[in-house]
Amino acid sequence: MSQAPHRLAAIGECMIELSPLDGCSFAMSFAGDTLNMAIYCVRCSDPIQVTVDYITALGDDHYSAAMLQQWQDEGVGTDLIRKIPSKLPGLYLIRNGIKGDREFCYYRSQAAARETFAGAVGDALCEELLNFNTIYLSGITLAILQESGREKLITALRRAHEAGIAVCFDTNYRAQLWPNAAMAKKVIESVLECTWIALPSFEDATTLFGDKTPEHTAQRLRSIGVEEIVVKQGAAGYFLANHDGERYVAIQAVNGVIDTTAAGDSFNGAYLAARLHGVNPVVAAQRGAALAALVVTHKGAIVPSEAMQACDT
Ligand code: ADP
Repeated sequence: MSQAPHRLAAIGECMIELSPLDGCSFAMSFAGDTLNMAIYCVRCSDPIQVTVDYITALGDDHYSAAMLQQWQDEGVGTDLIRKIPSKLPGLYLIRNGIKGDREFCYYRSQAAARETFAGAVGDALCEELLNFNTIYLSGITLAILQESGREKLITALRRAHEAGIAVCFDTNYRAQLWPNAAMAKKVIESVLECTWIALPSFEDATTLFGDKTPEHTAQRLRSIGVEEIVVKQGAAGYFLANHDGERYVAIQAVNGVIDTTAAGDSFNGAYLAARLHGVNPVVAAQRGAALAALVVTHKGAIVPSEAMQACDT
């Protein structure tokens, strides 16, 4: 008898991305941290075993329709995506520095995604989340939601956690999206308390929580009940903490870095895909790092699928 696939829901916001070509010309694409993760997770998954749905709100405009089409073409489930007439997706412009680091300029304060969990439709969406096996979100998801919708989502995450649904969380702290750091810390902590797999960057852990080392980050997360932890440290590699113990893993830094957008998201996507296919955390993290190393050699968040070698699930 065939088994139903493992169902992952990724919650967040996708925006129109404008990345520089030259001078004043830009290439348009669609990206957002959780969506990037969802696309990479689908690309690394066997759809018979793992399906990935994206949960957000869009408008009824041309760009929203184009986003939806692209996600469907990528194999991301879109059945639960909310459409809010008269709203639009957010937009951001990227500026690349010479070392591959990037600066962003956002137009997102009126975006449809802020209202994903508003009203009765939002209540129903929270109930739907409890039908998934795994739920993924980030600190950006929490930051962009209206306060009432955010509270509803956190209540749903607590219920999910109690019901044995694995909540996976990347802290992805963006100071400019929060009224102040204290509030960000409080909200992010409340989600960490119901998180099964945490995938923070060490930079976030230092900025928000003052952690001195990745071990401190892991200790702090373990003390509130997080079971599985990957602390990402850019070109330096990552730190793993789980039931099998703790270890630093150094990586081969890529020389020709072009754009580090979505390094962490692609890591998370490949890592979770592997974990959901039964691969152990050590090998899952190797796959995460291998994909991220490829992603930083391309412009933009999503590399062409031909650039990705078949992922071994
Ligand atoms: P984020 O994008 O969330 O800031 P990081 O910068 O920590 O995340 O990068 C995530 C992962 O991407 C790292 O753990 C590493 O595996 C990979 N990575 C980032 N920069 C490089 C690099 N220069 N060379 C190789 N891999 C990299």
